[in-house]
Amino acid sequence: MTARVLIVDDIPTNVRLLEARLTAEYYDVVTASSGPQALAICESQDIDIILLDVMMPDMDGFEVCRRLKANPKTHHVPVLMITALDQPSDRVKGLEVGADDFLTKPVDDMQLMARVKSLVRLKSLTDELRARAMTGQQIAIEDALRSMDKITAKGGSILVVDTDQRHAERIKSYLTPEHDVDILTQPADAVFQVTGAHYELALVAMALTDFDPLRVCSQIRTLEHTRNLPIILVADESDKPKVVRALDLGVNDFITRPVERNELAARVRTQIRRQRYALELRQSVNNTMALAVTDDMTGLYNRRYFDRHLGVMLGKAQSQDRDMALMILDIDHFKSVNDSWGHDIGDAVLKEFAARLKRNIRGVDLACRFGGEEFVVLMPDTDFRQAEMVAERVRQSISDRAFEVGNGRPLSVTVSAGVTLNESKADTPESLIKRADVALYRAKREGRNRVVFDAA
Ligand code: GH3
Ligand code: MG
Ligand code: MG
Repeated sequence: MTARVLIVDDIPTNVRLLEARLTAEYYDVVTASSGPQALAICESQDIDIILLDVMMPDMDGFEVCRRLKANPKTHHVPVLMITALDQPSDRVKGLEVGADDFLTKPVDDMQLMARVKSLVRLKSLTDELRARAMTGQQIAIEDALRSMDKITAKGGSILVVDTDQRHAERIKSYLTPEHDVDILTQPADAVFQVTGAHYELALVAMALTDFDPLRVCSQIRTLEHTRNLPIILVADESDKPKVVRALDLGVNDFITRPVERNELAARVRTQIRRQRYALELRQSVNNTMALAVTDDMTGLYNRRYFDRHLGVMLGKAQSQDRDMALMILDIDHFKSVNDSWGHDIGDAVLKEFAARLKRNIRGVDLACRFGGEEFVVLMPDTDFRQAEMVAERVRQSISDRAFEVGNGRPLSVTVSAGVTLNESKADTPESLIKRADVALYRAKREGRNRVVFDAA
């Protein structure tokens, strides 16, 4: 996995040093020598992680971070602040502006790699969830992002695994009362303990008496129920080689002893926040999405979804200079179906109409119930001739065979359609719909049960 790292520092030597280290690990590196330049890069490129120096003239790292975190486009990009060792208050300030983690100067190689790796991994998880939500379902992602804003990292439910009761108590005292902390001094019971409860984070000490801490971690990672539980290791300097292995096993982060209160708070907060984001995203992908984007009666996409999708698709067609066709369909004299046979039969006709429509368009075409007895189909990569063919096929599939909708008497139904193509960069979703609508109106006027192309 190559990730793109942005290094921001006003001192060229610092930039080159970090750049060399990261390039050696096959990261794709972009650099900036000032805050404003960094912000501009983040606006125009997809950056996976930002290494941000605190001390810079004009705009310091805190301000850059504040702006990144306030911008919806960049607020999910992890920021790793590079602070001076003799300025512990910088960490507190970094936290306040939303930094995800810190490194102290001079930057230790292993810390750098571990930190970057773990943040990049989490970023790719978030990206995947966002992307999955985006391609299928534009709308619910927004609902999800909105509720993400309400998520805090307070009141976390944390398990501390440490055979040394005194150490564990100290860590607990750092984290309470903001979080709820349980202590487990028998690591052999860890898996049992985490499966039963709903923890959001495990803090595992490397120095466990008679027990391999990495085993605890890999067991947690293997079980379905706890696979996503974030793990932070509490390690000594001498544990470093083991920590590297642990990060490969899927441990999310580590903190070195003696544990510093602010640093612990930052790592814990970051993990809990991410855990809650991921959960929220997963749930909204699963639940609300289908509801938010489809029409109950026909199972086709709804208007809200279509409006959003049309904008995206048109932008794509325009930027890549590709054809796209839009068709609006309206059932002929539908009011008289209701009037003669009742509303329920009307509903049954709508369902059967939608089913036939779906059978006669391609998988890549997007069919939606526009409202009432009006439907719209968006056809990517479709030129005039193909669009005409599809429209005719749909029209005939409705008129050729009477609708058997349960009252014993087959109903003959017809539909009129207006079709248009995207023509220029000046087209907007509104102008397309307008043109298709005008064509539809002509189809109605010219006798219904026909397809009319807009003659622009
Ligand atoms: P035209 O050929 O000009 O389109 O005539 P029309 O009768 O189809 O058009 P009009 O817009 O006058 O009537 C549409 C009817 O569709 C009126 C409305 O009651 C009915 N309708 C809209 N939504 C539903 C629905 O969900 N179920 C049922 N049964 N009828 C609906
Ligand atoms: Mg109508
Ligand atoms: Mg109608």
